[in-house]
Amino acid sequence: MKKGLLIVISGPSGAGKGTIYNMVLERMPQIRKSISVTTRNPRPNEVEGVHYYFKSVHEYQQMIASGDFLETAEVYNNFYGTPKAPVFDMLAKGEDVMFEVDTIGAQQIKKKYAECVSIFIMTPSFAELERRLRARNTETEDSIRTRLGSARRELGRYETFDYIVFNDTAETAAQHVVDIIEAERAKMKRNLTVVQELLQSK
Ligand code: 5GP
Repeated sequence: MKKGLLIVISGPSGAGKGTIYNMVLERMPQIRKSISVTTRNPRPNEVEGVHYYFKSVHEYQQMIASGDFLETAEVYNNFYGTPKAPVFDMLAKGEDVMFEVDTIGAQQIKKKYAECVSIFIMTPSFAELERRLRARNTETEDSIRTRLGSARRELGRYETFDYIVFNDTAETAAQHVVDIIEAERAKMKRNLTVVQELLQSK
């Protein structure tokens, strides 16, 4: 059977990767989500097992020790990780899985699973990134500075990524991601078992 595609969406805070991730899932509802584990506190609208699995630092460390994670990273003072088993189960069943992680996590996944499709979402410029972070009205001046500094380090990990999509408007950027996924699904090397079956059929 054809294995599913593992799609990794990443990029700096403020570039709109969360919005694009959700728009792509709306347009491609057959894609499965990976639910991450985190040590941060739930926000008022967040539901256990839907948005995240919320764990204490102690529980999280036990999961690391048991080798439960495909990747794990510390993002702005909290831990986040992708549980390995559900992702590989879905891929083996032929289901495509997509997740949104920070660039350190994306780097770990690319190392362990080179066939993944990694996409970096970026604003057209750093000035535009700053404008969007300010427009959120949720960040302090310090936090804006930290996030802009991180954004340069994140883009500096460009070698991890197969694609860069510039988020000029979210609509167009989401469509670019959809087009990339379609093109990756159609790659000959991902369809060898299907081609063999065709060749053997009458
Ligand atoms: P938030 O706390 O706003 O939900 O997420 C903060 C950041 O954590 C986002 O940049 C998101 O990409 C990243 N993140 C969410 N889940 C994971 C994960 O499983 N692994 C990694 N490495 N980063 C994650």
